[in-house]
Amino acid sequence: MGNTTLTDPQRGQLRTTLEAEQARLQRELPRVTASLDLSACDHADVIDVGAAATEREVSQLRLEQVRDRLEQVEAALVRLELGTAGTCEGCGSPIPFERLELRPTASNCVRCVPKG
Ligand SMILES: [Zn+2]
Repeated sequence: MGNTTLTDPQRGQLRTTLEAEQARLQRELPRVTASLDLSACDHADVIDVGAAATEREVSQLRLEQVRDRLEQVEAALVRLELGTAGTCEGCGSPIPFERLELRPTASNCVRCVPKG
């Protein structure tokens, strides 16, 4: 299908990496959610409200990171299924496997990656 440069073994390797990452994130998600609930409950009784608020912010931030990452991983798995995983979404150029090996969720070539 299409102009992907990936071979079947390469796609298989990426899928394995992504599925492991997905499983790890899915295990982490309830833990982060739980720590968020916990800090929310404690909040009223804690004398140092500032510390509790900071802790909650950290959990909230972590939760967003995990959710974002999970979305990226799932989107990458979909692209693998569709056969578009090796193609840059920006310019349509092939993404080198070496880049996908380092960043299996990459959907752009190095030239099209937004800086920062
Ligand atoms: Zn590109």
